[in-house]
Amino acid sequence: MAHLGNATAKAELGRSTWKLLHTMMSRYPEQPTADERTALDQFIHLLSRLYPCGECAEHFQKLLKLYPPQTSSRIAASQWACAVHNKVNERLGKLIFDCSDIEAKYPCGCESVE
Ligand code: FAD
Repeated sequence: MAHLGNATAKAELGRSTWKLLHTMMSRYPEQPTADERTALDQFIHLLSRLYPCGECAEHFQKLLKLYPPQTSSRIAASQWACAVHNKVNERLGKLIFDCSDIEAKYPCGCESVE
């Protein structure tokens, strides 16, 4: 595999991670159980500790203190992830993404075909 420059590798890692996060939120239960809510909250906090880019992880942890994960419903979780991604976009000088109808923008391809 060709060696990627640091900036390219960091950007690819970011794109993949955001894709996973937004797609997870688009499939998160509309009415989660207490256990599901705890699982999502823990997942996000563990991700912020273990994320391989140190600078990103540090910033993400600060963001989580200001904007704790919203786990009460699919819409709340999807909107939260979109808003937090926009905070990172803002910091990096990127465009702000339109969060309306965000779930439809992240299909998982896992709907059952009957
Ligand atoms: P990305 O920001 O990766 O977005 C990918 C695609 O998602 C976009 O093309 C667009 O279609 C869509 N999108 C954009 N905004 C949203 C949104 N708000 N909601 C839903 N979809 C959206 N990089 C750094 O250099 N410094 C950091 O501190 C840093 N922190 C990060 C923290 C986390 C938790 C993550 C996951 C990544 C971080 N990154 C950081 C990487 C950075 O956010 C980008 O992923 C990377 O720069 C590549 O950017 P991109 O322009 O390809 O689009």
